[in-house]
Formats: sequence, structure tokens, C-alpha cells
Amino acid sequence: MDRFTGRVAVITGGARGIGRATAERFAREGASVAVVDLDEASAARTAAELPLTEGAGALGVGADVSRADSVEAAVARVHERFGRLDVLMNNAGLIRDNLLFKMPESDWDLVMGVHLKGAFLMSKAAQRHMVEQGSGAIVNVSSTSALGSRGQANYSAAKAGIQGFTRTLAAELGPKGIRVNAVAPGFIATEMTDATARRLGVEPEEFRRLNAEATPVRRVGRPEDIASATAYLASDDAGFITGQVLYVDGGATVG
Ligand code: NAD
Repeated sequence: MDRFTGRVAVITGGARGIGRATAERFAREGASVAVVDLDEASAARTAAELPLTEGAGALGVGADVSRADSVEAAVARVHERFGRLDVLMNNAGLIRDNLLFKMPESDWDLVMGVHLKGAFLMSKAAQRHMVEQGSGAIVNVSSTSALGSRGQANYSAAKAGIQGFTRTLAAELGPKGIRVNAVAPGFIATEMTDATARRLGVEPEEFRRLNAEATPVRRVGRPEDIASATAYLASDDAGFITGQVLYVDGGATVG
């Protein structure tokens, strides 16, 4: 299925994990893909390895999504290279977990800056081109942690904020032909969850096993699970869907 032939997708935090799997998915479905990540060399390496279809291109861009100047330059580079911008996935992220009483102000600011301000800056820069085209789709990455998560006051607040941001952009940009949705992943096996395991003193393998046991479908998520949900929401198949949050969590939030 080539749902994205002739279209350009920008994936932030695309060098690895969920972002990388999603960049691969868009490439396989015909898109030209810009991989935006902190380190230009890692972004370029992932971009060079994407399974592109004929006529499509890939670009690796080093940028910090929490900095306005960096974002402006990144989006300008993408537009210069491909001449349009159809899909934005706001996926870049990090965690700085701690109980509230131990959480330094700098870790609150960092997490808010990357997730929430990053999504704001990238969306603001990208929508200019989408409005000009009269079409586009933004997929923001929230999390089941938005519903509350011990030790993650900063991350939980940022991921809940993403949901309000998503609904608001959907209302503002819908009349311009731009749809805005969010995916809210549950436990996805990536370097992020492996780092959490190590912080808790558990082997990553064991941490996955325990989380799989607590999940109705009895497995943890794979980056590809988020890639397919994101591709769906960004595609014309979801043409009447906007302002929604799709939980992709194997039923973890069902109860
Ligand atoms: P990951 O750590 O493997 O990848 C995150 C990527 O974001 C990295 O490549 C990193 O370099 C990049 N990044 C970090 N700060 C950046 C910045 N300021 N500018 C640009 N890029 C930056 O993590 P992942 O598990 O693939 O997570 C991807 C997204 O999914 C994140 O938003 C995360 O919060 C969210 N999420 C993950 C899970 C999970 O279980 N893994 C669950 C829910 C939500």
C-alpha cells in the first residue's frame, strides 16, 4: 500500500525507537522522510537506512525541538529539500523520573521543554507550509502516563498537556485542511523503557516480561505498533478523524 506516495513526512526523535520505526513505515508506504533528531549524524544514519520507494528521498536533520531557532532552521531545511510538508509526527522525547519532592526544577523544565514546547514549536513552524498547501496531518505522541504515573509528575503533565494541545490544534487547523490527532502508547520496548528498568534495578528483559503479564494482550508493545497507528492517523483512511487520542497499549488502560 502506497498511502504516502508524493508526500513528505517529518518525524522528530526519528533516529531510534518509535520514531525510527515510524520513519521506516512512512518510507515503505511511499513518503519522502525527514528524520529530525538531536544529533545530526545519528539522524543522517537512520535516514540513509530507510526503505525508500522509487522517487522518494530521505534527509537527516540535527535539531533540538525545544529551541525555536533550531526548529525554524530544521523545518526550513526540510521544505527547501522537498518543497512541501504533509505529515508531522511530534515524537521527540525523554524522561527524567523522580518523586515530586526530589524532582529538580531543571528536570521539570527539560521534560516540558522537549515534549510540550517542542510539539508547539514544530507544529507552529510546520503548519505554515500545510496551510499554504491546504492539507496536512499532525500526529502528536502522548502516553498512558498522561492518566497519572507515580514518579513522573513532569512527564505525565507534559503528556496530558499534549492531549489538550492536540484537541485545540484540531479545532484551529481543521478548517485549513489539517487534521491533528495523538497516539498514546503504553509500554513499548525501546531504549527509553530499558533505561527505566535499569533505574529500577531490574533487567530490561525481566521488566518487559512483568509488563507483558500485566497487559491484557499479554505482550509489551513494539515500536511498529505505534508506527502503524501513526501511519493510519496521518493517512487519508483517517480523513474524518481529528482531535482524537488513540491509546495503543494492548489494553493496559482498560483496567
Ligand atoms: P527513545 O529514547 O528511544 O527515542 C527518543 C528520541 O528522541 C531519541 O532519538 C532522542 O535523541 C530524541 N530526542 C530527545 N530529545 C530531543 C530534542 N530535544 N530534540 C530532538 N530530538 C530529541 O524513546 P522512544 O521510546 O522511542 O519514545 C518516543 C516517544 O514515545 C517519546 O515522546 C516518548 O515519551 C513516547 N512514549 C514512549 C513509550 C515507551 O514505552 N517507549 C510510551 C509512551 C510514550
